[in-house]
Amino acid sequence: MTKRQLTIIGAGPAGLTAAIFGRRAGLDVLVLEKGMAGGQINITAGIENYPGFKLAGGMELGKIFREHAEKFGPEFMECSVESVSFRDGNKTVVTNKGTIETCALIIASGASFVKSGCKGEDEFAGRGVSYCAVCDGAFFTDAPVAVIGGGDSAVEEADYLARFASKVYVIHRGDEFRARKSVVDRALANPKIETVMNSVVEEIAGGDLVERVIARNGKSGKTREIPVDGVFVYVGSAPNLGFLTNESGVKRAGNGRIITDGKMETSVKGVFAAGDVREKYLRQVVTAAGDGATAAAAAGEYLSKIGTLPDLKQRQHITA
Ligand SMILES: Cc1cc2nc3c(=O)[nH]c(=O)nc-3n(C[C@H](O)[C@H](O)[C@H](O)COP(=O)(O)OP(=O)(O)OC[C@H]3O[C@@H](n4cnc5c(N)ncnc54)[C@H](O)[C@@H]3O)c2cc1C
Repeated sequence: MTKRQLTIIGAGPAGLTAAIFGRRAGLDVLVLEKGMAGGQINITAGIENYPGFKLAGGMELGKIFREHAEKFGPEFMECSVESVSFRDGNKTVVTNKGTIETCALIIASGASFVKSGCKGEDEFAGRGVSYCAVCDGAFFTDAPVAVIGGGDSAVEEADYLARFASKVYVIHRGDEFRARKSVVDRALANPKIETVMNSVVEEIAGGDLVERVIARNGKSGKTREIPVDGVFVYVGSAPNLGFLTNESGVKRAGNGRIITDGKMETSVKGVFAAGDVREKYLRQVVTAAGDGATAAAAAGEYLSKIGTLPDLKQRQHITA
């Protein structure tokens, strides 16, 4: 078992920003990441609302975030967090590569897509059904595709898919999109995009591969068969918190996300949450980064209060 000062679960925008702020405050920082550092932005086509970058490719921005964090020398460990426990003031993180005892913890494990739940979705996963336009969009060059959803991700990714696809149907259950107006306006101006409003996809059907979706209009009750080769599902996301049980004492909202105060501290002292994993109004890169900065500063304050301030030797590791 290793003993660490500040451990961060997740190397997305929140975790990487926390690592930068933690290291710059002279803390000993360990970042645990099970996939590719950068988080969800690695599967995002383009980001145009992160200050300083008028339009950045998601992968490109993820790489810049990683390199920026690496500059300050946190330790990265490639592992999956399996459970955490906070008993008698001890904070224990169990991973598939060993157990870590930490003085403070920042949970920045982000979120993952949720399924639409329609018939055929599981059956055709990987055979036309996808959750990542950046990963799979090019497979549908000159072919018609459908996007299910009406939020920012759905409409932005529909616009991205229109670069490849012959036609993009955006099927949304509501009568207006939840996405930001600028995003919707651009998508609606794209002649390849057709919106199918007030409609729920009941079935994704085909043979070996997807051939069509069957959508029911909630107002008229009529169904429509739309011939498509691909279906991209963007109906929302859920926090990555399989490792956090109720016994941990960390309070969560009805949607499963972690409740924090303004310093990103959870109901357990010394345990913080940042980014998409926590309950908040806006889940974007800029807010994830802001949360990460706040959480690291607050963790530093907590560590100094409990008497585990970093010594000067650790501060000298900082190169900037
Ligand atoms: C398709 C799409 C388009 C988007 N477009 C935009 C946009 O244009 N602008 C914008 O600002 N935002 C956009 N977002 C949202 C943005 O990507 C997120 O708000 C942001 O990435 C959240 O950062 P995070 O660090 O909280 O979490 P994440 O980015 O989800 O990172 C969490 C990290 O934790 C890791 N992790 C999870 N569980 C564990 C575990 N058990 N053990 C170890 N590691 C773990 C994950 O592998 C991941 O790397 C988009 C998202 C998607 C999916």
